[in-house]
Amino acid sequence: METFDDLGMPFPLFKAPVAHARTDPAGTCSVCGTPATIRFCDACYQCFRGGKVDNAIDTELGMVRVEDARLGRTHGLPLGNPPVLGNYELIPQPVDPNFPDETWYHVRIDSQHLFEIIRTPDYYSWQGERWQFCCNRPCAFLGTLPAGALPDSESPADAIANWFRLPDWDAIGDTDFGPLTFYVFQCVSCGGFRYHEDCD
Ligand SMILES: [Zn+2]
Ligand SMILES: [Zn+2]
Repeated sequence: METFDDLGMPFPLFKAPVAHARTDPAGTCSVCGTPATIRFCDACYQCFRGGKVDNAIDTELGMVRVEDARLGRTHGLPLGNPPVLGNYELIPQPVDPNFPDETWYHVRIDSQHLFEIIRTPDYYSWQGERWQFCCNRPCAFLGTLPAGALPDSESPADAIANWFRLPDWDAIGDTDFGPLTFYVFQCVSCGGFRYHEDCD
């Protein structure tokens, strides 16, 4: 199956087949007016990569919008007391008087990494994307893998790592493997796999 690298439109954080990406059909770029065979948030590849569209993406560390990338932190997420979230640097937000028991935290991530993630296509999912992080930066998305395509003799983590040794998307094709789906990522720093799962 074709990837964005095959199309000459590389994305450092999107290594999955093009078919797994949420894109817009061919049309005119909403920014520069050039005809484009594939569009991202209605813009051509160059405008999307150039940061000319106002994109936002949901992650396991909270939403990332343009202003979050600029400030070098995610919009954030609610955490318990004391807050526990790996080794991430957290910035508490003011407590909402309507929800006094809940404190939200921004998560500090380098601006350059957050700008990269909002210049990357989103992926199709049943319940919404949840971009994964490792080594204090966003991982690269490898693809959407139906759980039913993996041997159930192994743990999901082992089965996923084994499958991606020799990924064969053509073998998956359009076969219906059932609704349980793994969204698989790989750390661009340590090479470790990360994933989340959902169902329809
Ligand atoms: Zn354009
Ligand atoms: Zn890592």
